[in-house]
Amino acid sequence: MTTVMVIEDEEAIGILLKYNLEKEGYTVVWETSGNRALAMVEKCCPSVILLDWMLPELSGIEICRMIRNKPDLKEIPIIMLTARGEEEDKIKGLTAGADDYVTKPFSVPELMARVKTNIRRAPELVTEKEYVFEDIRMDLVEHKVFRNGNYVHLGPTEFRLLKMLMESPGKVFSREVLLKNVWGNNIYVESRTVDVHIRRLRKSLNKFGPDYIRTIRATGYAIDNNSVLNDETE
Ligand code: CA
Repeated sequence: MTTVMVIEDEEAIGILLKYNLEKEGYTVVWETSGNRALAMVEKCCPSVILLDWMLPELSGIEICRMIRNKPDLKEIPIIMLTARGEEEDKIKGLTAGADDYVTKPFSVPELMARVKTNIRRAPELVTEKEYVFEDIRMDLVEHKVFRNGNYVHLGPTEFRLLKMLMESPGKVFSREVLLKNVWGNNIYVESRTVDVHIRRLRKSLNKFGPDYIRTIRATGYAIDNNSVLNDETE
């Protein structure tokens, strides 16, 4: 089932969109406010988001930026819906990371066509075949990690951890963010668990090269070639 997320505070438009999208066979998640919408995007990971510009709490632009800053959500296509038609606003929307832009009042068949186009484009966006950082290569298709040509055996959790770090080299991920993205919303896992798996990841990875995983005290972890800056060595 393909999920389309609608973030729209105007009831009439929300109902119209929900009705037409469901008629097309999509599962629709409709939210009317910014904060809740963001949590729902994380929870249901939709194939495309229809995002209204003017919303209570957070504006569409702010939501768009926030989604684009989350490594696991940044590839979701976003279509901005707006009453404004000015060129400048369109540019603002697109620089905030929107993929497409539809001005209200919109024609339903045209909007449905845009939704379809953006969903079709999404798999190409999402499926990166590999990540490379220095001498580490992650083959995302085969689910294998190589270092200097050596196969590195990793458990599934270590693989997901490394994938998260390698998506954004240099970026510091807090234990909480890693927990949420690698373990999901499992409340029974404590943040010390992250340290345990990082230690395992290092052990496997560093058999074939220097330590590129950086520990930032009281904050979290990053993959970075400035590992000499490590706040603590484990
Ligand atoms: Ca609105």
